[in-house]
Amino acid sequence: MAGLACARHLADAGWSPVVFDKGRGVGGRTATRRHGGDLQFDHGAQYVTARDQGFRSVIAAMSKSGAAVRWQDASGEPRFVGAPGMASLAKYLAKGLDIRQGMKVTSVHRSNGRPTIVMEGETAHQFDRVVVTAPAPQTVAMLNAQTAFLSDIATVGYDPCLTLMANLKMEAPEAFHSRSDPDAELAWIALDSSKPGRSGKPCWVAQANSGWSNAHLELDLDTIKSKMLPLLCKELGVAADAVMHAAAHRWRFAKVVQPLGRHFVRNEDATIYAGGDWCLGARVEAAWMSGDAIARDILGAE
Ligand SMILES: Cc1cc2nc3c(=O)[nH]c(=O)nc-3n(C[C@H](O)[C@H](O)[C@H](O)COP(=O)(O)OP(=O)(O)OC[C@H]3O[C@@H](n4cnc5c(N)ncnc54)[C@H](O)[C@@H]3O)c2cc1C
Repeated sequence: MAGLACARHLADAGWSPVVFDKGRGVGGRTATRRHGGDLQFDHGAQYVTARDQGFRSVIAAMSKSGAAVRWQDASGEPRFVGAPGMASLAKYLAKGLDIRQGMKVTSVHRSNGRPTIVMEGETAHQFDRVVVTAPAPQTVAMLNAQTAFLSDIATVGYDPCLTLMANLKMEAPEAFHSRSDPDAELAWIALDSSKPGRSGKPCWVAQANSGWSNAHLELDLDTIKSKMLPLLCKELGVAADAVMHAAAHRWRFAKVVQPLGRHFVRNEDATIYAGGDWCLGARVEAAWMSGDAIARDILGAE
């Protein structure tokens, strides 16, 4: 979201940004996983808030196009989801951008005075500016030669989140959308398919709390699935044979614990920037604000 926000703003101002992403789809943790044609799960971010004026206007434009829909749940604060999935928010921002997927950046440094990125496989590309928006620990690894601003980033910490996606053969409980309880092993349970703009079979998403996720982080995904499924079945009061499909996902850098408190960092001559949710907080909105602020800084320096 941070990278797309930055690229979108620059492209709208007439620049030609290139986005490299090691992932297969756009959006990073604002993601939707599909299975077998009729199942889909928002296995990363569940919804977005829009407290910032700038992000509110982006959400308003997305809502107009149908890519975002208001999701009213018990919290009282307006929440929005992508439609038909959370990834739709990212796809909206990505429209028309030059995005190169499956491209892993291994390092960012300066060569002959110009910012240079090196890809897995050793190809190097030079640009006028480079903006890194990976989670903080991955950003540190990429920028390891750029000591100037790394001391700031090194203090940022993340909690992991182990996530279960399940399709269960059961009557969906009436009026159930989600429940949140940080002290429960499954801190979040959502009937994903009940979000607006979805249709089809009951798809559940459950997130383990940070303690459980940390304790089970290195297990293989099948084992994680087999440990999380009974917890979900118990909570929903269904037998194990109700499970039609299930999969687990490991988010190693899921939720920022201690953000930086600034919108971004950059090197002295403003040619290498770094940003993301780790700057302002564990929210999609915070990631967008960081990326957008980087674009504004770049444009302001022109
Ligand atoms: C399970 C879970 C639930 C969440 N729930 C919510 C929620 O309900 N509401 C909310 O607002 N927020 C939620 N969040 C947090 C939210 O998803 C993030 O804060 C936000 O999406 C972060 O955006 P970002 O752009 O900073 O980082 P990311 O989305 O992580 O994007 C980083 C991108 O960098 C790419 N990348 C990383 N390393 C490299 C490399 N070496 N080379 C190339 N590309 C690379 C990745 O592929 C990725 O696309 C949740 C997160 C998780 C994991």
